[in-house]
Amino acid sequence: EAERSGRNRFRCFEAQMNAALMRFVQTREALALALQQQAFELHYQPQLDLRTGAVIGVEALLRWQRPGVGLVLPDAFIDVAEDSGLIEPIGAWVLEQACRQAAAWRAAGWPSLVMSVNLSAVQFQHGQLVETVAAALANSGLAPQGLELELTESIVLQEDAALRETLAQWKCQGIGLAIDDFGTGYASFAYLKRFHIDRLKIDRSFVSDLQSDDGSRAIVAAIIQMARSLGLRIIAEGVETLAIAAQLQGMGCDAVQGYLYARPMPAPELERWLQARDNTAQA
Ligand code: C2E
Ligand code: MG
Ligand code: MG
Ligand code: MG
Repeated sequence: EAERSGRNRFRCFEAQMNAALMRFVQTREALALALQQQAFELHYQPQLDLRTGAVIGVEALLRWQRPGVGLVLPDAFIDVAEDSGLIEPIGAWVLEQACRQAAAWRAAGWPSLVMSVNLSAVQFQHGQLVETVAAALANSGLAPQGLELELTESIVLQEDAALRETLAQWKCQGIGLAIDDFGTGYASFAYLKRFHIDRLKIDRSFVSDLQSDDGSRAIVAAIIQMARSLGLRIIAEGVETLAIAAQLQGMGCDAVQGYLYARPMPAPELERWLQARDNTAQA
């Protein structure tokens, strides 16, 4: 009896393994095809100065138009892209596309707009990233000041001389460096100065709990205090209500991003959104 249930459990485990492997293989093949067929697109979400309401930048967020499925969000495929090595060409496409769009918008009437691009830790492991970023800037004509790279804490935690050199080089060129999802990793504050970080993005989980949870409020307050004393700028992500925005402002937060202001949008839609905002500002 025990033996049979053990055997069944093993079969069940085997079936799960197969399902996971199948998902990996199928997604990997579909992603490779998507690259060839240009089935990726970027959506853009505005970032606003909390005090003036001015749009200071946009974050590029990857989307996949998967045939027969529809629009797929990155959480459903980034892990497969990372584990299969495809994150390199996909990431290069993202950088190139985002830089071209930023150059176009800066020329079209939003000259100080900054484009934020997410980088995965795996992109740092392959050694071509400095060249990829340089090529995206050169091909698009975007000024380095118009680009900000969003890193995760897991990237900067590697106490790596090559990484430090890379970040110093970007910093020297004028590219901005932000830590995404700040507060969720193993926050060692020492790296913030050492790695020339300009800006912290407070993770959405703390922001959304700001009203209801004393712990989150204390964490956000501490992050803002620390950022200020280190001379770092700060942005809160996932701002969904006016009450939270007001509270963040009271706490000394510089900038915000979230559904309260705008969802991530395709480029033409974001452009209309920017124009509409300019018109109301003039009225
Ligand atoms: P992230 O960089 O932290 O991006 C913020 C995520 O929060 C986005 O999800 C955005 O759509 C969502 N968001 C923005 N405002 C709100 C809000 O008010 N409420 C809620 N509930 N959500 C909000 P998305 O687009 O699904 O992206 C998920 C993650 O995928 C990103 O998190 C980022 O880590 C990764 N990602 C996106 N694009 C890229 C890319 O081009 N390359 C790499 N390596 N990773 C990417
Ligand atoms: Mg991000
Ligand atoms: Mg984030
Ligand atoms: Mg994230």
